Amino acid sequence: MLTNDRLDAWDRAHFLHPSTHFAQFARGEAPNRIVTGGEGVYITDREGNRLLDAFAGLYCVNVGYGRTEIADAIARQAHELAYYHAYVGHGTEASITLAKMIVDRAPAGMCRVYFGLSGSDANETNIKLVWYYNNVRNKPEKKKIVSRWRGYHGSGLMTGSLTGLDLFHRKFDLPLAQVIHTEAPYYFRRADPAMSEEEFSAHCAQKLEELILAEGPDTVAAFIGEPALGTGGLVPPPAGYWAAIQEVLAKYDVLLIADEVVTGFGRLGSMFGSDHYGIRPDIITSAKGLTSAYAPLSASIVSEKVWKVLEEGTDSFGAFGHGWTYSAHPIGAAAGVANLKLLDELGLVENAASTGAYLKQKMAEAIGDHPHVGDVRGEGLLMAVELVADRETRTLFEPAQGVGAKVNAALLKRGVISRAMPQGDILGFAPPLCLTRAEADEIAGAMAGAVAEVLD
Ligand code: PLP
Repeated sequence: MLTNDRLDAWDRAHFLHPSTHFAQFARGEAPNRIVTGGEGVYITDREGNRLLDAFAGLYCVNVGYGRTEIADAIARQAHELAYYHAYVGHGTEASITLAKMIVDRAPAGMCRVYFGLSGSDANETNIKLVWYYNNVRNKPEKKKIVSRWRGYHGSGLMTGSLTGLDLFHRKFDLPLAQVIHTEAPYYFRRADPAMSEEEFSAHCAQKLEELILAEGPDTVAAFIGEPALGTGGLVPPPAGYWAAIQEVLAKYDVLLIADEVVTGFGRLGSMFGSDHYGIRPDIITSAKGLTSAYAPLSASIVSEKVWKVLEEGTDSFGAFGHGWTYSAHPIGAAAGVANLKLLDELGLVENAASTGAYLKQKMAEAIGDHPHVGDVRGEGLLMAVELVADRETRTLFEPAQGVGAKVNAALLKRGVISRAMPQGDILGFAPPLCLTRAEADEIAGAMAGAVAEVLD
């Protein structure tokens, strides 16, 4: 085994980490963590720390760490057939079985699955599907995609554009021209405090309609949204939001892409967020929870409505010119099959609902009355605590104070990993779906200590 010191030096000298302050990291001013193991909701590092991972990696290790059932399935697949491609009708038992398992679990009306490797590439695929769909329908002008401010859809060129967070645009010449953003369904940050949730939802739908009319309905192809906002702040939608939005989309023949990379496969306490909120998507994006991140895999789940046009398209124009070498990689597919079986066998979707409600209650009891806690919100095991300078006026702290990052660090000292979300002083909690009540108590207790340390 290499010593920590040598690994640390190589890390600082050679490893270009994603979403990292390069200069601080290279100078050794920002911490690194070399992770060595995981079991259930805990990870261990080379310093010997055992930490409760209350963000499940990047909200993806849904069944928890150390599941030998998935590791064994991966090993079996690797021994039998580590790779074959999926072009021109090729497949493996694992990829075909997984496609069937996904459609069986997906909301009504979905019928086909295209496999990629990440949430970002699945969304790239989905935008190409939308453009192709409108070209086949002889609507070549109908190409713009509406996304929400604070939405997160990846960090490629198109998907980074769809993402509605400044950090992902700054100095990258994004967003691309075909992407337009509309208001975030962020009730806590509504401009008019007198608005009810329903009024705020109607306001968001009205803003969307105004945008579509201003751009020209014949130029707007699709709307993409996470059922509950994730990286932009972990915000469940206000009452009536999705019904109001879908009414506008139907009126102007605009497709709906539900980005379920985080919410798919149980996180909200339902198999899909679309079912949870009454969303009827034309395409669903899925990744993370599909394999619980035991291997990289994503799925673009396509509805009958879109599929019919895709079929017609290839009859008219020939084979669909899109695919990756690693589409439907057998090892990812084998991990997916084992993962979805485990999700069912262990009742983890139900556990996300019940333990999620328990965690929210415990968190509210622990810190809900603190003068700098503005909001404790969540659905299932997707939760956030938003910190504010003033509770009455919901005034933000100065970003330079780094309050969210400080509470996050204080929590880590107490052995719990949360995520300081990239925009605002928001602490995110999205632990593995196997979280127990005792572990939920541990998170809430640590949070009470961390908030008191930084803000009292
Ligand atoms: N969509 C959503 C809703 C996500 O949360 C993410 C990642 O966090 C992505 C897409 C991008 O997925 P990936 O990081 O696998 O490219």
